Amino acid sequence: MDDLATRLAAVDARIADAARAAGRDPGEITRIVVTKFHPASLVADLYRLGVRDVGENRQQELTAKTEELAGLADLRWHFIGQAQTKKARAIRAAASLVHSVDRPRLADALDRVGEDGDVLEVLLQVNLTDDPGRGGVAPAELEALAEHVAAGCRTLRVRGVMAVAPLEAPAAPAFARLAECSRRLRSVVPDAEWISAGMTADFPEAIAAGATHLRIGSAITGERPLHI
Ligand SMILES: *Cc1c(COP(=O)(O)O)cnc(C)c1O
Repeated sequence: MDDLATRLAAVDARIADAARAAGRDPGEITRIVVTKFHPASLVADLYRLGVRDVGENRQQELTAKTEELAGLADLRWHFIGQAQTKKARAIRAAASLVHSVDRPRLADALDRVGEDGDVLEVLLQVNLTDDPGRGGVAPAELEALAEHVAAGCRTLRVRGVMAVAPLEAPAAPAFARLAECSRRLRSVVPDAEWISAGMTADFPEAIAAGATHLRIGSAITGERPLHI
């Protein structure tokens, strides 16, 4: 717990430094702690340290942890992983926000399981690599996806874009392309201003490029175990 508190404080200090260096207010940046593969007890420890935003990338793990920690009512669970349409109901039941909507069929599936009047906030994931297997809509298809969701999915609200930097290339130019995607998205959905980008290896570059939501795992949690 002491180590966790130390790492969390160190990351938050680096976030504040990077924000100030970019002329930004650190208060406008949401730091999501990615807790995948770690036990629910780690999420509970983070909660005691004041963390209210956590990220998971697998539906079954998300569902299990939200059930175990149902008492922590003000904890927000961000779903950040690739989603199968058949898991849409379970994801919607457990997640406060979904970062990884990358195709019309997934948007439709999440919309179909929503109740009237209930709104799920979503981000459109953009693929910044040339590998179609990496998840995310191709940048050229972003506006079409945004129009599909805005026009056809009444229980979804598009808040912005999300991306993972390519492994094999520097992050800063990739995040600059994401910022351009964000501008194009806002030509379709003017208030969709959020940019979810930046992980342990590259969050200062993401902050410089305008990220509003950081998804930071191992720098805060320590090494991920291979199995729960
Ligand atoms: C695991 C994961 C992260 C966090 O990765 P770290 O390198 O541990 O900070 C962020 N985003 C997504 C989509 C992830 O799957």
